[in-house]
Formats: sequence, structure tokens, C-alpha cells
Amino acid sequence: MPTYPNLIASKLPAVQTSIFTVMSKLANEHNAINLSQGFPGFDCSPDLAALVNKYIKKGFNQYAPMPGLYELRRVISEKTAELYSLTYDPETEITITAGATQAIFTTINALVREDDEVIIIEPAYDCYGPAVELAGGKPVFFQLHPGKYTINWSEFQKLINPRTRMIIINTPHNPTGSVLSATDMQKLEKLTNNSNIIILSDEVYEHIVFDGLEHQSVARFPKLAQRSMIVSSFGKTFHTTGWKIGYCLAPANLMAEFRKVHQYTVFSANTPIQYAYADFLQRKDEYLKLPSFYQEKRDFFNKLFEGSRFKIDPSAGTYFQLLNYSAISQEKDIDFARRLTIEQGVASIPVSVFYHKMTENKTLRFCFAKDNDELEKAAEKLIKL
Ligand code: PMP
Ligand code: GLN
Repeated sequence: MPTYPNLIASKLPAVQTSIFTVMSKLANEHNAINLSQGFPGFDCSPDLAALVNKYIKKGFNQYAPMPGLYELRRVISEKTAELYSLTYDPETEITITAGATQAIFTTINALVREDDEVIIIEPAYDCYGPAVELAGGKPVFFQLHPGKYTINWSEFQKLINPRTRMIIINTPHNPTGSVLSATDMQKLEKLTNNSNIIILSDEVYEHIVFDGLEHQSVARFPKLAQRSMIVSSFGKTFHTTGWKIGYCLAPANLMAEFRKVHQYTVFSANTPIQYAYADFLQRKDEYLKLPSFYQEKRDFFNKLFEGSRFKIDPSAGTYFQLLNYSAISQEKDIDFARRLTIEQGVASIPVSVFYHKMTENKTLRFCFAKDNDELEKAAEKLIKL
């Protein structure tokens, strides 16, 4: 096939293949244990898989309504009201999406205009910045306190100005595992009161919070909720990252804008899976058991590294754990992660890729959503270093 003969003026000249794709490929090529890309190493509930099967066999195989299956939106509304004390109208304030990535892209492209500033908190999940750039917006980066990964709100405040259109937050936080507290949310509320700022709150790990902490959804804070687009994903909650179904919650007037873009990007999400989630979501224990399930995994993983030269600061949420390797090597994290994959057979994610300036903290991200024997095998190789 001959290549395109003319100059391509790329819309995203700096973007390369995502680190998750790169590291998973490298792990496969070297037969390494893959603790890089975040996905569970175990299967979803057989009952959930059976429900999808049931609805496919029943013939629910055509387009779902544009905003999503009503029954699923209704159950999400009930669940959100029960957990966070705020009721979203399934008719006008909830949309089912093809995963959280689409919900994030759609939110940004529906609401960010040419030259609008969008505050992105780094280290940041990889899809925020490119979506802002494609929308013509200007990413403005704020750095979390290195090591503790907390927000210094008086520093943060300095970034806000009349051009600020959006602030993107993510709690529990990928990649650091830090979580925002009620006090953080109150500070954000105070900073944004009486402004036109919209908050995009990425809460895909809402059910993976440890040590008795409660997830502080923006939905718990009505003044924040009235300016927020909340994004969540069933992939994290039900061990089904490959099914790519998520949702967005927002006030009706913001959701109307969201749907204008949603209907022309995916139109609607997978039908039989929406039916299955609508049933399965009623089994509350399936998501309420996640904190203890993943806390055990975190503790198991971290215990394996006790006494090693990796420095562990226990993750407070998500299924990721950061390990600092500065006592082992002074190599760049990208080089070190590659070398561990090729030479030790364990793949991880170098944290510098979550910074636009590739800031180095000699830290790697490991996904502990794996069977214990896999975690044990990985640790066995690494603790020797
Ligand atoms: N936001 C964060 C913070 C994530 O970690 C991920 C994926 N792990 C997503 C969004 C995307 O979720 P989805 O797979 O549902 O698109
Ligand atoms: N969110 C997953 C992670 O952080 C990756 C998803 C992807 O590959 N885009 O590892």
C-alpha cells in the first residue's frame, strides 16, 4: 500500500502510542508478567456473563436508545442517590457511554471551546490532555505534591482566571492511588463558587477505596454537583474492562450539550451488555465488596515487598500501587521499566509518562488486580534487586 503522498499537519503532533499499549505489547513479546496496563487478571462473575448471553439470545441486539437503556439509567440513579445522597433524573441527567474514555472525550469536546483553559492535575491519566487539545482548548497543568500526591489548594487557586473553563479531577487517582478528602472537595467548591467553571470528575475507581475511607464523589457536594460532569465505568467495578461501558452524570442543561456530541460519536452503547448491567447492578454486594477485596490484594502485594529496596507508600484507592526504586537504580523510569520487563520478566508503567514534561520521580506503577500467585511470582523476581 503506498503511503499518503502529502504533508500531514498532525492535529496531535506530540502524541505517541499510549504507554499502556506499549508496555502490554512488550510484556507479551517477552512473556513477562503484565502488571502494567490496568485490567483484572481474573474473570468477571459468571452470572454477569450469563446475563449478557441471555440478552443476546433473547434478541436484544439492535441499537439501544441514544442516552442508554432507560432501566440501566434508572438503576444508576437509585444507586447514586443511595450512596451519595443526590438524585439524577434518568431521563435528562444520565447517559450511558462506550466506556469512561468516551465520556471524557465527549464531555471535553461538548464543553471546551477554542482557547478555553482546562486545569489538568498531574500526574494525569493519559486521555485528558489530547482531548482538550483536539477541542482547541489549552491544558494548564498543576502538579500534585510529589511523594504525598496531595493538592496544595492555595497554589492551585493561582491557576484560576476568567479563561478557566474546566477543572479535571480524578479520585481515586490513577496512577498514584491517592484519594481526595471531604476537605479537598469543600475547598474546590469554595474556589469555583460564583464562577463559570465546569468540573469533570473522573470517578471510575469509585468503588475501590481502602482503609475505611469513603469515596468523596462530587455528587455529595450539591454546589459542586451543579457544575460537574461525573464519569464512571463499569469496567473497573465488575472486572469487565473489555466491555467498554461507562456513564456520565450531569445537570440537565450540561447533559443536553453532552448528548449533542455523544449522538455523533457513538450514538449509543452496546445493547445486551446494558441489559445485563441493569440486572446485575441491583446486586449491591457485588460493588460493596470491592474495597475489602482489593484492599486484601493491596496488602498482599505490599507485604511481598517488605524488606526489599523498593519504597512503598500504600495506595489509598484504585488497583494500582506505586513503588519508588531510587535505592536500586538511578536509571530513567522508562528505561528501568523496559529493563525490568525484558530482563526480570515483570512489566509496569513508568510514572513520568503521566506528566507533560516527563517529570521523573524514579517511580513505577504496578497493577495488583491479579491472582495472588501471579503477584507472588512477580515480587519474587523484583525483591532480589
Ligand atoms: N479514567 C481513568 C482514571 C482510568 O484509569 C481509565 C481506565 N483505566 C479510564 C478513565 C477509562 O475507562 P474505560 O476503560 O471505561 O474507558
Ligand atoms: N486505564 C488503564 C490503565 O491506567 C489503561 C486503559 C488503556 O489502555 N487505555 O492502565
